[in-house]
Amino acid sequence: MKKDEAEFCREIERRVRRTIKKYSNLSPDARVIAACSGGKDSTTALYLASKYFKRVTALLVNEGIPHYRDETEESLKKFCNQNGIPLKIISFKREFGITLQEIVKKTNLNACSACGVLRRWLINKYSRGYDCLITGHNLDDEAEAVLMNLFKTNLRELKAQKPYLSELKQEGLTPRLKPLFFISEEQIIKYAKIKGIPAPAKQCPYRKNAFRRSVESEISILKRENPKILKDIITTHIRLINRIKTPKQVIGRCKTCGMPSGERECRACQIISRIGETRCSQTL
Ligand code: SF4
Ligand code: ZN
Repeated sequence: MKKDEAEFCREIERRVRRTIKKYSNLSPDARVIAACSGGKDSTTALYLASKYFKRVTALLVNEGIPHYRDETEESLKKFCNQNGIPLKIISFKREFGITLQEIVKKTNLNACSACGVLRRWLINKYSRGYDCLITGHNLDDEAEAVLMNLFKTNLRELKAQKPYLSELKQEGLTPRLKPLFFISEEQIIKYAKIKGIPAPAKQCPYRKNAFRRSVESEISILKRENPKILKDIITTHIRLINRIKTPKQVIGRCKTCGMPSGERECRACQIISRIGETRCSQTL
């Protein structure tokens, strides 16, 4: 590794350490689990978390998206093997009795909406008992999400956009940590390349969020005038976040699966019952 590359990596590692310490105060002895997709962001977050925390487990949800998921699963398995990180793989097929591809064929549900709800349900279930759940969201993702939440007046989601979300504990969920919150996609690509962290090129065939695409392209136009725009959006957001007021939401328990939910029946159980399966509740 060249000298400037080594310096760059040290700087990224220092910034990630500072994010963890400043926002979470979690000790290196904490038991953490990282939600991984096999892509460069979550694998880099896993790698950096394993440099800070002594007990890290990787968690991969296989939704049953042919080709795409097979490749990313293989890549993550190899990476975890090489780095001595335990890996837990769970699947829609085993948990719900149906793959995402079959759900999309059987219903008129949007793939990403169904996938997001069911993945979250599984990640919540399998991260129980850990001190925190690590995710690979980076500066670009967060800046885009800030604008999307502002445009859609999703104040609750906007308020939850921070490097460490400890409030989830009161709802019976595992706190979430985003170690790459202040690291840009460009920096992650460079870091992953230097460190030999795999970045499978395949993208999910369902990835078509038109609104996110528009926000992404607006940001890239604004970036030409202000190359620091992502950092500026996030810095302003973090300064203002404590002023966002939202009505208190009552979180109860889903009548079917017992997971924390703002509705009588959680959205995962609603999807499963719509498909005509009952395994969601049986797996608890
Ligand atoms: Fe799931 Fe959509 Fe992401 Fe594909 S792009 S993994 S369907 S949320
Ligand atoms: Zn439920």
